[in-house]
Amino acid sequence: MQAVANTALLHWLVMQDPAQVHLEATIIDTHADTPQRFVDEDWDFSGNLSHGMLNLDTARKGNLAAEFFAIWVEPTQWRGRYAHRTLALIDGVYEQLRRHPREMRLGLTAEDIVSARQDGVFCALLGIEGGHSIENDLGLLRMYHRLGIRYLTLTWANTNEWADSSGDLDDTSIQHHGGLTDFGREVVREMNRLGMMVDVSHVSDATFWDVMQTTHAPVLASHSCARALTNSARNLTDEQMRAIATSDGAVMVNFYPAFVDERWRREWKACEPERDALRAAVEAKYRERGEPVPYSVQMQVDRDFYAQRSGEMKLPGLDAVIDHIDYVAKVAGIDHVGLGSDFDGFSLLPEGIRSAADLPKITAALMERGYTAEQMKKILGGNLLRVMAAVQAEARTE
Ligand SMILES: [Zn+2]
Repeated sequence: MQAVANTALLHWLVMQDPAQVHLEATIIDTHADTPQRFVDEDWDFSGNLSHGMLNLDTARKGNLAAEFFAIWVEPTQWRGRYAHRTLALIDGVYEQLRRHPREMRLGLTAEDIVSARQDGVFCALLGIEGGHSIENDLGLLRMYHRLGIRYLTLTWANTNEWADSSGDLDDTSIQHHGGLTDFGREVVREMNRLGMMVDVSHVSDATFWDVMQTTHAPVLASHSCARALTNSARNLTDEQMRAIATSDGAVMVNFYPAFVDERWRREWKACEPERDALRAAVEAKYRERGEPVPYSVQMQVDRDFYAQRSGEMKLPGLDAVIDHIDYVAKVAGIDHVGLGSDFDGFSLLPEGIRSAADLPKITAALMERGYTAEQMKKILGGNLLRVMAAVQAEARTE
């Protein structure tokens, strides 16, 4: 009897080893801005990380099974050509799939993620960040779905013609709608019908509640944190997180320092005019030559700025990200939280995490706070698989 008990205990201990738990989990991240690198830098996913946060090698080291590549169209630079740029970025991902057929494949369903993981192949999924990409046309939305787009973030930081964003509410030159317009509600209903996840990251509070009234399927926040901990309008209130849980959706926690740490958010915002001036000077050089400004160049401005100031300013540590995951798990529930890193979407990561290769540190830190193997599997990917499958089950062809 004793021997049986000891074996069971040993088995339990192995099962609770964070490294083992991380290795066995199907890990899914719902937001990385890497496609711009494929297109603008002609950078290859198998290449060195250089200034980036995600490549094939770090995905392997971090045991990342699947990534949702964000198709993000900068709204000022690409005005009048949103669909063109959207397609160019989607093509950028497809070109990587063509170059690396053995290492990566396109995921269209929750089952695709599971089977790619079983085959040891990295699963690339697609989401569009910003409703302006559909150019007010449900036909374009449907075409994007046919190309493999599986979520649409209704807005980016810009309000579009049918949904308000949280990013420009105090800009009086922008025409706001007080949430979703009638067409915006149609977009949500058509996404439900297609089985495309409705992503509420970036939207204004009014848009959020209009979405909750309209949707019939679970709702996703692909890269958002908790406003109670860090007072950014980009973060979700407790009430919003509970509403997402009620829809059986999920809140995927962003790693961006200004969303996870209140002190840093204030300090970083206070020096925004200085950084804007530096960025404008760099951008002017590109404009003189008639060239588009690469995103990496804009990010380098932030990094150089921080390098000069690191004596006075201190980035938050990984524990700030852990605080948010823990908070969302407590408020929304363990079945409604996950990872939405925003890799390659911003210039600086918290101290202690440099790339996807550091994902095991998240599992270790959460387990140190008492999270079990079973709970970790939900956070690391299980919850997203459930949400994606539920949204797809709601799809209708008629
Ligand atoms: Zn974003």
